[in-house]
Amino acid sequence: MQTQIKNITPESLSEAKEIIEGGGVVAIPTETVYGLGGNAFDDNAVKKIFEVKGRPNDNPLIAHVHSGYDLSALVDYDPPYAKKLREAFCPGPLTLVYPSKGKVSKYVSCGLNTLAVRIPSHEGAQAFLKTVDIPIVAPSANLSRHVSPTSAKHVFDDFNGKIPLILDGGECAGGIESTVCDVTGDIPVILRPGLITKEMIEAVVGVCGEYTPNFQKGERVKSPGVLYKHYAPRCKTVWIEAKNAKNEISAYVAESLENKGIAVLCEEKRICEIEKIGVKCLNLGKNKAEMAMRLYKLLREAETLCDVLLVVEPEEKDGIMVGVLNRLKKACSSEDIQH
Ligand code: AMP
Ligand code: MG
Repeated sequence: MQTQIKNITPESLSEAKEIIEGGGVVAIPTETVYGLGGNAFDDNAVKKIFEVKGRPNDNPLIAHVHSGYDLSALVDYDPPYAKKLREAFCPGPLTLVYPSKGKVSKYVSCGLNTLAVRIPSHEGAQAFLKTVDIPIVAPSANLSRHVSPTSAKHVFDDFNGKIPLILDGGECAGGIESTVCDVTGDIPVILRPGLITKEMIEAVVGVCGEYTPNFQKGERVKSPGVLYKHYAPRCKTVWIEAKNAKNEISAYVAESLENKGIAVLCEEKRICEIEKIGVKCLNLGKNKAEMAMRLYKLLREAETLCDVLLVVEPEEKDGIMVGVLNRLKKACSSEDIQH
């Protein structure tokens, strides 16, 4: 199969619609990362997405709809606070998990009785969703466990020859995946941190919980995606604590015969100091939004640049950095969490 990359035009949108209606998958841009989209009502299309990505079959998918789509067709209960959150943040990088009406393919939620729904704000995503006018399940368009894609080229690198069409909507401005927030209970609970922060949600509805899975008790976790190694570049990736970063990096450099194989990913303000050690630096950025936007691009660049990537713990920790740190730490962890 030939994989085509096309700009978003009326012609490419009708081609995409044809592929979707025929049960195929199309990669689409969103404001967070690129997604691998298929018809949420079609069992075979949903199974194909799991297959192409190599995604574990207990990690549910998010259904994407356009801003005019009638949510009540998909969800059983829509609490008043969820409406407020949608008014404040949707279309945008916020996914809400509702009690499901069970109308989409049973493979979407992997046996959970909930459904995650998002209304992306990216113009190209909206145009695509309006053209097809059905819910589209679209996990990040990367091979499972690999770094998420923020450009059409990243998608091509993972899926060349495996999918027919990538709609090119430029580089993703957000850079990390949506915040996933459960709205099945009395208060919203964040299952995965992202660009819409706990503080932003609290400012709208007064309260917001954060879910931490209890691995010990063997309970079924609320958001199975949190169990898996994710976002990992194809090079050894090591977390370095900020406080003794210089010493640790120097030790790595001294140990390696030629330090060509080592690169450091750090905040812009640390670049000067670390370059003095004589090691290549990748500039994560000078502010939080920049760090989120550059993160995946740099993790993919590291794959061709070095054998060992040393990730220096950023000093910035709050707001969207909660999501950035969550991704960075997962990229550095070597194993899936056993449960
Ligand atoms: P991805 O689309 O690859 O960024 O991953 C989607 C994320 O949403 C994963 O962490 C899933 O576990 C989570 N998710 C999707 N559907 C549900 C659901 N019904 N309940 C809880 N989490 C969900
Ligand atoms: Mg993903």
